[in-house]
Amino acid sequence: MAAILIDGRAVAAKWKGDLALQAAELSADGTEPHLAVVLVGDNAASQVYVRNKENACRKAGIRSTVIRLAEDCDQEQLENTVRSLNDDAGVHGILVQLPLPRHLDEAAVLRLIDPNKDVDGFHAMNSGRLMNGQKGFIPCTPLGVMKLLEAYDIPVSGKHAVVIGRSNIVGKPMAMLLLAADATVTVCHSKTENLKELVRQADIVVAAVGRAAFVTADMIKPGAVVIDVGINRVDGAIVGDVDPAAAEAAGYLTPVPGGVGQMTIAMLLHNTLEAVREYGR
Ligand code: NAP
Repeated sequence: MAAILIDGRAVAAKWKGDLALQAAELSADGTEPHLAVVLVGDNAASQVYVRNKENACRKAGIRSTVIRLAEDCDQEQLENTVRSLNDDAGVHGILVQLPLPRHLDEAAVLRLIDPNKDVDGFHAMNSGRLMNGQKGFIPCTPLGVMKLLEAYDIPVSGKHAVVIGRSNIVGKPMAMLLLAADATVTVCHSKTENLKELVRQADIVVAAVGRAAFVTADMIKPGAVVIDVGINRVDGAIVGDVDPAAAEAAGYLTPVPGGVGQMTIAMLLHNTLEAVREYGR
């Protein structure tokens, strides 16, 4: 039996509609939500991601400002930009588009962002809050995955979830969120032995590897929920980390495109409005 395809576009559209209403209410109350995005250099993919964020903000009635710095800007210039955004009471969310050019110290920049404006949720304060089960900003992609599972009433409690990937942006926060939702979580990475066997035991698989067709149909337990976070460019097309043939074994599958990616921007808008509600008025 073929998997039910999880329609990230439809779920994200619903979220964006609700968020636009919330943004309008906040503006009517006198605080126009404002997201500042810092973009360094001219990485083509980053330009597209930032443009998508700007468009989504505009449609939701959230003000966005993009600060563009030259590819060869130095650490001090970048850090001063972040400092001035931290100090600007009219800015509620700050996002530094990653990856940064190699000569810049990414960790130092992320550390500098005011944790109360850290709508990407990458500051150690927010990862710590997530780890400790405290309220804080949660990275947008794993948060979006949790919202997709909720939207489809997919039970998580007591299930065995296998997360493939352990990045600070996706894999680790994903594992923490699943654990907080009472899943039993296994995290796999490039040094994992018997990865196929582990994935085969999963009720829920989250693939965040960055390799096309990494997860194949034979790795999927029949009926498992398969969440494909990967974005890979193959011959000009965007594909995920999961071989589409896995749909024959899975119970649910997120398509790429049209799955998780759609939720990431919706959660960025959500976090920006949370920043206004929690700290911005
Ligand atoms: P990343 O930082 O490169 O992390 C990749 C992870 O995969 C690492 O933990 C790595 O293990 C693991 N890995 C690599 N090769 C492996 C192998 N052969 N076997 C097992 N594990 C392996 O990437 P990321 O930022 O987490 O992103 C992952 C994917 O999600 C990418 O395709 C990215 O474009 C996509 N993404 C999508 C969205 C969205 O909105 N849909 C958002 C963010 C990212 P080690 O730690 O051992 O190196």
